[in-house]
Amino acid sequence: MKTHVYHITYSPESHNVHLLFLGCNMFCRGCIRRAHTWDSHLDTIPESPPTPDLLTLSDVFAAIGNRPVNRVFFFGDDPTLDPHLASLAEGLQTRYRAKNTLLTNGLILPPYQFFDDIQLSIKAVSPALHRDFTGVDVAQALENFRKLAALGAPLRSESIVIPQYIDAPEIERIAAFIADVSPEIPYRLDAYIPVPGAPWRRPTPEEMALAEDAARKHLRNVSTLHSGGNGKRHKMVRLI
Ligand code: SF4
Repeated sequence: MKTHVYHITYSPESHNVHLLFLGCNMFCRGCIRRAHTWDSHLDTIPESPPTPDLLTLSDVFAAIGNRPVNRVFFFGDDPTLDPHLASLAEGLQTRYRAKNTLLTNGLILPPYQFFDDIQLSIKAVSPALHRDFTGVDVAQALENFRKLAALGAPLRSESIVIPQYIDAPEIERIAAFIADVSPEIPYRLDAYIPVPGAPWRRPTPEEMALAEDAARKHLRNVSTLHSGGNGKRHKMVRLI
């Protein structure tokens, strides 16, 4: 029974596990994975790509072994395309008493019961802009965001700030959408990191501040992640 997991990293300090999944149903022009498909939290990114062999549930548990596990992050492409996502998430909760965090684009309603934290990334809310960036319609992702909130799922959101494309005006529209669901939902702004084949540059600190101010007009809990990260990150080592 193969999952969509192909790469696993672990932090000996925080005891966090990163599971990276293959396969996405959006085609974002600014996707960081156009640069590489390694966990970008590794200190050194190898030149050749990771082996895209898919792991079974047993492979995943064997790779983690008897290490202590605090939290498991599910990301990469989009984990919700994995038909075994619920079994994997439940198995990790049962075996390691781990907290599970899911990062998703929201096109597929996830098995939210097995996650302690769901970060639904909203690329844009303007239909034409969303289609231009992702290649797909925005309506399903927004509907699923509302559904997850209504179901009481532990929901937060995130967007990438791209200068003169998805910047303060669109970020304010996204924040207004989230606030209409609940102004308490945490919202994080990530600075765009240039990837091969895309025309945009990194946002300046001033552009990030403008976007943050625009989001704060609607939401109470807004944070910003500048490119390169802010604050200490735990060292991740490759398990597979
Ligand atoms: S949804 Fe995420 S993983 Fe999928 S293409 Fe967009 S940025 Fe990449």
